[in-house]
Amino acid sequence: MSFSDMPVDVGPVYEGERIRAKQMYVELGGPKMEKHFELVRVKPAKEIKDGEVIIHGPDLKDMEQGSTHPIGILVEVSGPELEEDLEAVFERRIHEFCNFVNGIMHLNQRYTNWMRISTSAFNKGFNSFQMLGTILIRLFKAELPIIEKAQVTLYTEAKDIEKPHEFAMSIYDKRDERARTIHDEDVDMFYGCVLCQSFAPTHACCITPDRTSLCGSINWFDARAAAKVDPKGPLFEIPPGECLNLEAGEYAGINEMIKKRSLGEIERIYLFSGMEFPHTSCGCFEAIDFYIPEVNGHGIVDRNYSDVAINGLPFSAMANQTGGGKQLPGFNGISIQYIVSPKYQQYDGGIETIVWMNKGVKDRVEEFLPKDLLPKIATEEDVPDINNLKKWLEEVDHPIVKTWAEALGEEEEEEWEAEGAMVPMGTVGMTIPGVGGAGGFKIILKNCKIHAESIIIKKIDPRAKRKK
Ligand code: SF4
Repeated sequence: MSFSDMPVDVGPVYEGERIRAKQMYVELGGPKMEKHFELVRVKPAKEIKDGEVIIHGPDLKDMEQGSTHPIGILVEVSGPELEEDLEAVFERRIHEFCNFVNGIMHLNQRYTNWMRISTSAFNKGFNSFQMLGTILIRLFKAELPIIEKAQVTLYTEAKDIEKPHEFAMSIYDKRDERARTIHDEDVDMFYGCVLCQSFAPTHACCITPDRTSLCGSINWFDARAAAKVDPKGPLFEIPPGECLNLEAGEYAGINEMIKKRSLGEIERIYLFSGMEFPHTSCGCFEAIDFYIPEVNGHGIVDRNYSDVAINGLPFSAMANQTGGGKQLPGFNGISIQYIVSPKYQQYDGGIETIVWMNKGVKDRVEEFLPKDLLPKIATEEDVPDINNLKKWLEEVDHPIVKTWAEALGEEEEEEWEAEGAMVPMGTVGMTIPGVGGAGGFKIILKNCKIHAESIIIKKIDPRAKRKK
């Protein structure tokens, strides 16, 4: 495969390239655009004109510098071994392949896709979406040899994107609906994905029926199909092995996988906890599940929400805390589908710990949430800030209120003692969240043994301190 006819270089070395606003020629999709999408469909060979690129709307050379446009990317493929289950996994490769182009930055997936094309690439002659479509076709066929024919259609005009966007949304809904029909106990194999390791080298996704990938694009069925056709590829089987903690979703096989894939950086994962050994996050999560210490509950904010969340932080600030392959208790990258999983953060208390969601998220999941809980989950329309949240939760009698006496320190001092508490430690990272769940610091203990006769946890009241 050659790209010598292209005015810019193409290759994996350019993955991770950042294009800041002042370096961009145009922006496509992203939070400023209402409708955008990317979709892959498997079609019969006779319906594909191999190598064809169709553009609906203005081409790159017709766009004004600094402008923002809708983008719809439809990739249609055929091949005798292809099946519909592979569509979502192929679709995720659009992110990777676009990022191979020197001068393109691609973020997110499905209907949150967001691209920037750099001025430098444009000035070198990368001035037509024909080139983008051709590069995608060549990469799809070269990297996934089971694809025999491919064609690409690009939509860059608001009126032209309406119908294909609606169609893409119906396909995503269909995939999500099917994923909700099975659960972890129905299967004997889980799957992993390392497609995002170029951005977050210590991150690997573990995909089970009850925990869809955090990007929301790859469910258990999709991962199974991908691992079957390309067992040495970025999606692979994870035999679960011994279940070490059912409630937390801790499995020997998953721990083994993450230890190997994170090069020893991460040793344990609780699939169903955001507070202890949480699943790592790359940067592609659809939403962030964050702990709100003031009310002992969880909040959820998605990447389309442009205001600050209830904890006073915008999505972008929390995303910096959450992503990068770190394991940061209190901040967990999740898919929207995981919110409606019956195992959602069950180790931390489950669905009844959710006290706040931005309205966009709540609207998307409301039909799946318990009817009695729904009006008790605040949005930005109910409560303006954290200071008013506690009172509001009391007024609506949210179930979290019952946990406060114990969790929010009415007991000033708690003493805990365990006989012979000798804990062998390898390398342990512990993150202490700061005020509002933000900031804080990390303590790393290397090659040490800790012996404690007792541990005393004290709540420090700054006012009491000042009186002394
Ligand atoms: S977020 Fe996870 S499942 Fe999705 S592409 Fe990245 S590694 Fe794969």
